[in-house]
Amino acid sequence: MEQKMIQEALTYGRRFVRYGKPASYIPELASKNPSRLGIAVCDMEGNLSSAGDCEERFTMQSISKVIALILALEQNGYDIVFSKVGLEPTGDSFNSTVRLDHLTNNKPFNPMINAGAIAVASTIRGATLEERKAVSIDFARKLTGNSSLDVDYEVFLSESNTGFKNRAIIYLMRSNGIIEGNCEDHLELYFLLCSLACSCQDLAVFAATLANNGVSPITGETLIQPRTVKLVRSLMVTCGMYDYSGEFASTVGMPSKSGVGGGIISCAIGKYGIATYGPSLDDKGNSIGGLKMLEYLSDNMGLSIF
Ligand code: GLN
Repeated sequence: MEQKMIQEALTYGRRFVRYGKPASYIPELASKNPSRLGIAVCDMEGNLSSAGDCEERFTMQSISKVIALILALEQNGYDIVFSKVGLEPTGDSFNSTVRLDHLTNNKPFNPMINAGAIAVASTIRGATLEERKAVSIDFARKLTGNSSLDVDYEVFLSESNTGFKNRAIIYLMRSNGIIEGNCEDHLELYFLLCSLACSCQDLAVFAATLANNGVSPITGETLIQPRTVKLVRSLMVTCGMYDYSGEFASTVGMPSKSGVGGGIISCAIGKYGIATYGPSLDDKGNSIGGLKMLEYLSDNMGLSIF
């Protein structure tokens, strides 16, 4: 993508960062500088272009839900994973508990909300918790093309010390028979995935792999099976931006996933993987500057799939 276009998107996005604030329910995230904004774009040949604070490191948070889902599907197959989680949007906030205690259908609605992602993480295999963590980090390294990708342990501890809502969610699902085994182990794995530290460049490569039908634009290796890519991209469209997914589909129209760390990944299928970073969030937990940069690129380059 032309540098001029990326720079223009950044300039446009910067006008909006003052209207939000960093997530504060994870104490470690509250201290992030809300004026930061960055973007990286990776094309299908692996060429990267970037602008702004694109090298700043931030935690993936909910963007890791996509990685967890791909890994779980690869390890377990579709039947096991979708016996624990559905494929429907909720229209509720990402950490809502309201639909988890339904009499007949208490399966979490989809893998892009906390409950669904925790259920998915509970299926990630390994002989021990340490092995499950190592396999997950390794897989994230492959998908981002960054072999030194690692966990931000300060964010991890901050989240695991204060993650009461996620504890409520997992124990509710445990009592309803969705979750098996040790809840604290599953939560530790979930928090670890959320705390993976990355840059826009790392996530642009991952988004480009999804945009390139599962083939890494850097190595040419098939990292995700085509059937899984199709499924994951469709879930990103319907559920990837939480309870803003519908409006986002109409304003941006690309399979995307956001995280409360301030990141968003977006796939211009067959063209680009885009990653944005801006810790100033709106009230739904999406990066305000990121949304605006994606809107700009979608409008000016005709990137909407609709
Ligand atoms: N780790 C965060 C949580 O569980 C992820 C949420 C998000 O990015 N929306 O609350």
